[in-house]
Amino acid sequence: AEQAQAAGVFWRRAAADLAELERRVSLMGELDEALRAGGIEVYYQPKLAIAEGRVASAEALVRWRHPERGFVGPDLFIPLAEQTDRIGPLTLYVLERVMEDLAQLRALGHQLTAAVNISAKLVASAEFNQAAGALLARGVVPPSVLIFEVTESATLEDPDAATEMLRAYRELGVTISMDDYGTGQSTLTYLRELPLSELKIDRSFVQHAHRNRNDGVMVRSTVQLAHELGLKVVAEGVEDEDCLDFLRQLGCDMAQGYLISRPLPAPALIEFMDRNSGEAGGGMLPTSLGG
Ligand code: C2E
Ligand code: MG
Ligand code: MG
Ligand code: MG
Repeated sequence: AEQAQAAGVFWRRAAADLAELERRVSLMGELDEALRAGGIEVYYQPKLAIAEGRVASAEALVRWRHPERGFVGPDLFIPLAEQTDRIGPLTLYVLERVMEDLAQLRALGHQLTAAVNISAKLVASAEFNQAAGALLARGVVPPSVLIFEVTESATLEDPDAATEMLRAYRELGVTISMDDYGTGQSTLTYLRELPLSELKIDRSFVQHAHRNRNDGVMVRSTVQLAHELGLKVVAEGVEDEDCLDFLRQLGCDMAQGYLISRPLPAPALIEFMDRNSGEAGGGMLPTSLGG
């Protein structure tokens, strides 16, 4: 009886695994279709330059509007895209959109920079880097208005190749930013080795920094470390005014989070910038954001 039960468990698991596999395979086929037919959208989350009280940059965050499943978030499909070699085409699509949207924003007088998330696999991929280089060379916007966000794990796979590629982008004028700082491994090694200009403190440290002593200590010492290394610091996941005040006191350079804005589609970002770039700063940014 015990054996029969074990076999039952085995087959139920196998069936569940198979269903999961099938779900993934169909999801990836649909992602190919979305890339061809336009179901992939790029949203932008503004980053506040804290001391100046203005938005000078935004992070591009990919969104998939699936015809039946509705909204599919990046946490679900980015890992699948990475595992199935679709992350290259997806990232090139995002990069191209970002360059076009930035060109439009700049034509409207908004001198924004924009950040693109670059996955682990891609940083050391010759194929991707060649294609990205060709895209940058088209000159839709200068590379100096772009930021590439990489995670610590991005550089783990092949540190030498990663470092070399990041240097090449930096020589073109692209800003290299370390994303989700504090959550990975060998953090200090990468701070020493990589050609970084910016560091983004992970939201898990930032969110409670103003009311949790340990989190606060870590954010403060990270800001100090980064500054002494000549890096700009962005705090992710800023959700309330007290948190922003705390960051301002620490001299943190930029804040990103729901307090400033949720990620917005390009037309809404343009409206947001229009509203907040007037003499008085417009009406949307919370009053304390002006510094
Ligand atoms: P990330 O690069 O660390 O992006 C920040 C994430 O935090 C975004 O989630 C953003 O919507 C969310 N967020 C921003 N402010 C707040 C806040 O105040 N509170 C909370 N709770 N969350 C906040 P999203 O858009 O779901 O993206 C998740 C992750 O997916 C990103 O983390 C990034 O690693 C990845 N991702 C997104 N777009 C791309 C892309 O185009 N390429 C690649 N390779 N990865 C991407
Ligand atoms: Mg990011
Ligand atoms: Mg992040
Ligand atoms: Mg993240």
